[in-house]
Amino acid sequence: MRSVSKFRKVPTYLRRQFVMLAVIVFGGVNASAQDIPAPSFQSGLPDPVPDVFNLVDFLDEFGGFPRHAVGKLDTIELGNGAYVVTEGVYQAFFLVGRRGVILVDAPPSLGVPGATTQTGETLLGAIAAVTDRPIRHLVYSHEHKDHIAGAAAIRDAFPYVRIHSSKETLGSLVRAHAQDSNDSRPLPNRIVHHKSWVRSGRQVVQLSDRGTAHSPGDLYIWAPRQKILMLVDVVFPKWVPFSSLALTDDVRGYINAHDQILAFPFETFIGGHLTRLGGRDDVEKNLEYVLAVRDAAGAALGTVGFGDISDETAVMSDADAFVYFQNPFALFDEFLQDVTQVCADIVESDERFASMAALDVFTASHCFTMQNSLRLD
Ligand SMILES: [Zn+2]
Repeated sequence: MRSVSKFRKVPTYLRRQFVMLAVIVFGGVNASAQDIPAPSFQSGLPDPVPDVFNLVDFLDEFGGFPRHAVGKLDTIELGNGAYVVTEGVYQAFFLVGRRGVILVDAPPSLGVPGATTQTGETLLGAIAAVTDRPIRHLVYSHEHKDHIAGAAAIRDAFPYVRIHSSKETLGSLVRAHAQDSNDSRPLPNRIVHHKSWVRSGRQVVQLSDRGTAHSPGDLYIWAPRQKILMLVDVVFPKWVPFSSLALTDDVRGYINAHDQILAFPFETFIGGHLTRLGGRDDVEKNLEYVLAVRDAAGAALGTVGFGDISDETAVMSDADAFVYFQNPFALFDEFLQDVTQVCADIVESDERFASMAALDVFTASHCFTMQNSLRLD
């Protein structure tokens, strides 16, 4: 019996739209808001029908919803010169210091040449609305295009910007440039080997490389004055992680990252995605969820066997069963699907996670990734 998560109560068309949006924005750098059809407010709303004008508030109860749907770029002031800019799916972080701006990430979806937002707002415009000081430092949270492919536009506007990354990210970008001369991620010119500091006047950010959490060379970005910690693509406050444990390259590293995050005395967590910033409880909840996925995947591997598959082939014709057993990939696929389903049923019916948005969308993918890790890592 599958659980009914709160996210399921969101109208089907909106859930589909979100999944489609996620595929577009996580999958490529050329997506623009214009690709996203506006939601229909006339149909599919649950009972009782909420006031259309409160739709965003209504969706906010479910962990927030991409604001692309309403074409808006938000700048969130965090105090002491710290800001987050988001269109509802991606987040950039910046600090305004006496000598200029320290910017972390330049997601193309925040409006850079080649990919503007629905309303024509841009990340540079959002920063210029706060300060007329130049961008002195640009930090790459990690190597992925969907978070930093707007960097070329930042460098074009501020040719003397210092670009910081881990040495793993530098290596990855050097390889990317060797294969694609049009890559829009300029090579960094300031490398973080283990830990370094970036300063602008009284603003200070510590950058540290603590091993793979999501991708090799992730940086932990720590603003001690504001007690803000940013680590991208690991924890998504109030939501389960994006598909397949946020597409991590290292499941053990992903789990370990939670302890690394919690070791900082932060009060505000920036995860890089969606509308919400987080707190310590969000990181702890995500860890609790991931450990539950690990337990459930282990239990599923202990209960599902290849013998179960022969039960399924028993109802096939001999000819079909013969073909089936000639194809080890098909057999193994059946086994993996069964393990994944048993695991997902356990986690989705766990009341502790009933309030996490997209529980029913991505739990199976997390189970699939986790059981692979338990079998192979
Ligand atoms: Zn990423």
